[in-house]
Amino acid sequence: MVSATMNNTIHTVFCLLLDKYGPQGWWPVNGIYFSGEENPFEIAVGAVLTQNTAWENAEKALERLRKRGLLTAEAIVNIPVYELANVIRPSGFYNQKAERLQLLCKFYLRRVCKNESPDRDELLNLKGIGPETADSILLYAFHIPLFVIDTYTRRIFIRIGSVSEGDSYEKLQSLFMNSIPRDEKVYNEYHALIVRHGKDICRKTPRCPECVVNREGLCRFGTVNSL
Ligand code: SF4
Repeated sequence: MVSATMNNTIHTVFCLLLDKYGPQGWWPVNGIYFSGEENPFEIAVGAVLTQNTAWENAEKALERLRKRGLLTAEAIVNIPVYELANVIRPSGFYNQKAERLQLLCKFYLRRVCKNESPDRDELLNLKGIGPETADSILLYAFHIPLFVIDTYTRRIFIRIGSVSEGDSYEKLQSLFMNSIPRDEKVYNEYHALIVRHGKDICRKTPRCPECVVNREGLCRFGTVNSL
């Protein structure tokens, strides 16, 4: 059960961030930014390549796949896994990621190419695909309204006081999804704003005096640290 206060805080933070930064116009997937022109398949591949690495490295790997004509599910499934690993080497953890990409592409060919909706549980059963990657793929590539919880979301809302350190991914996701309308565009925008705020202001060392959330007295951490 989400309390009215918590519900209001989540709403109000969205409005404050939107007012401060404006619509972001790009789609962050695990902290990376797509312009919206990429196709769903590229977004799904990007979501795997960027796991545990900076987007710049994932981008280099994506570019190498593109140049070699490997940015299709068929091509990725058909190339030997060690060759695929070599192509995506700039993304780091390339052996693991090559294996994950092939599993993801088999899933893609089974479900998506046959015009069947992607299934979250099936995605989650793929080795190396956790809830954040699965929900990023479903939200940004397939426009399914699922709120993505990432490290920025956790950090900001723990500091605000809406969630606790030990809360599960599912608990946080329900909190957001029960507090704001189930709208893919709103979830997309809110996640983008959270990433922006986490990078610019609510960093590891937060810049509370510059924070709009603090100005409204909505953050427990900010209030305590301003005393
Ligand atoms: S007040 Fe400080 S801790 Fe709270 S959200 Fe803003 S920057 Fe983060």
